[in-house]
Amino acid sequence: MDGYAPPDSSSPAPEGGGDEEAQVIVVGAGPAGSATAVHLARAGLDVLLLEKSGFPREKVCGDGLTPRAVAQLVRMGVDISAAGWMRNRGIRWVCEGNQVELDWPPLGSLPDFGLTRSRHDFDQLLVAHAQAAGARLHTHVKVSAPLVDQAGCITGVTAFRGPDREPIRYRAPLVVAADGASARTAVALGLVRDASRPVAAAARRYYRSAVRTCDPYLELWADLRYPGTGQDLPGYGWVFPLGDGRVNVGLGALPQRRPVDLRAVLAHWLPRLPAEWGIKEENAASPLHSAPLPMGFNRRPQYRRGFLLVGDSGGMVSPWSGEGIAQAMEAAEVAAETIALAVARPAGPRREHALQQYPAEIHRRWGRYYRLGNLAGDLVFARHGFRPFLHPRVMASPALLRALTRLLTHVAEEPAHDRIDAVLHTLLRLVPPSRR
Ligand SMILES: Cc1cc2nc3c(=O)[nH]c(=O)nc-3n(C[C@H](O)[C@H](O)[C@H](O)COP(=O)(O)OP(=O)(O)OC[C@H]3O[C@@H](n4cnc5c(N)ncnc54)[C@H](O)[C@@H]3O)c2cc1C
Repeated sequence: MDGYAPPDSSSPAPEGGGDEEAQVIVVGAGPAGSATAVHLARAGLDVLLLEKSGFPREKVCGDGLTPRAVAQLVRMGVDISAAGWMRNRGIRWVCEGNQVELDWPPLGSLPDFGLTRSRHDFDQLLVAHAQAAGARLHTHVKVSAPLVDQAGCITGVTAFRGPDREPIRYRAPLVVAADGASARTAVALGLVRDASRPVAAAARRYYRSAVRTCDPYLELWADLRYPGTGQDLPGYGWVFPLGDGRVNVGLGALPQRRPVDLRAVLAHWLPRLPAEWGIKEENAASPLHSAPLPMGFNRRPQYRRGFLLVGDSGGMVSPWSGEGIAQAMEAAEVAAETIALAVARPAGPRREHALQQYPAEIHRRWGRYYRLGNLAGDLVFARHGFRPFLHPRVMASPALLRALTRLLTHVAEEPAHDRIDAVLHTLLRLVPPSRR
């Protein structure tokens, strides 16, 4: 913004008087919002991060981070060698009595390990990182709607602050909606969900397990069934080690074709786990909580007149795996880079043209991958979960299982590192480009 003078980053939100201003407002301080704020602040922009909760706070999640997510943390300068991070070597697939461990591949462009960290700690750490980079954080501010001028361009947001829900306005010509699956800010602007794209349901519970808490693999179960009917769960189960005495145990499923009862499937599944793991009621360390997973770019457009969607608010969870943290942080980096380049231009059509590059870049990176994932979700996952892909012949073939795992987790690089990369790239090139 020409002639814009940022306020002192330590200044409190104004009491009643004039509206607080920023170059960019970010709504929501989950991984999408905090990562956007880190990158924007590092680019020298004045960014205001508005969060309805305080920190630390819980977020229902599996707490699993693949190498793509680790790469983003490293790019932001998060110290992942500090205490509290639990490293994993790869994935252990369990299906129909078989189990196979696969290490993350040794790619040049991604780390060869994953991490886990409870979202209670992870989100607090990331938001502190954003503040350290220079972002101004206001907690207990619940954004209710974007403010727009007569031409429909963004001018800020309206919100309620504090326990008394004091109405307040914040002003900025750019607003990043990173407010998660509820997508309240986008909905207020009329950006509705595309009902043809998947939304999964997932639930997790913490258990104390001295035996499994330092397991070096993320464990995925692909053969979960409903009690009584024996029908496949249209999803999968996980046991993720946290390294702090606990494991995160959960289930995710696509309810498109029939309703899913995650609690019943969990109750049916847990007795199958070896008794020495201790994953039973008396070792439960939390209630079972569930939340939706908006997938496959199910809210669009991802950019309109000063308003950008990042992370779950834009339905950016991978339709292949249900992973959303890496995707949220990667999209955040793209959004922040786009904004930084755009505000270097004078306000008007040239800046607008630069901002249009955000959805263009998101679709260049993931459009075909998500399109194919949406199709696989509809044809296979929503009927039988991962089980058909983990046929005993696939489980018995390390090459096939490696290729499948890299497809599901999007751990590949271009130019191709090996034959698996080459096959995945060829497969994706055959997919028609997705609608933006
Ligand atoms: C059970 C379950 C397990 C999962 N497991 C994994 C996993 O293991 N690995 C993985 O990568 N992904 C996982 N996911 C997906 C992952 O949790 C999300 O994709 C990720 O949190 C998206 O980040 P986000 O920042 O877009 O949204 P969120 O993390 O939802 O953050 C949104 C933030 O916005 C704030 N907010 C909301 N509304 C407002 C408002 N009106 N005003 C101000 N602030 C607001 C919220 O308080 C929150 O802090 C799982 C999801 C579920 C439900």
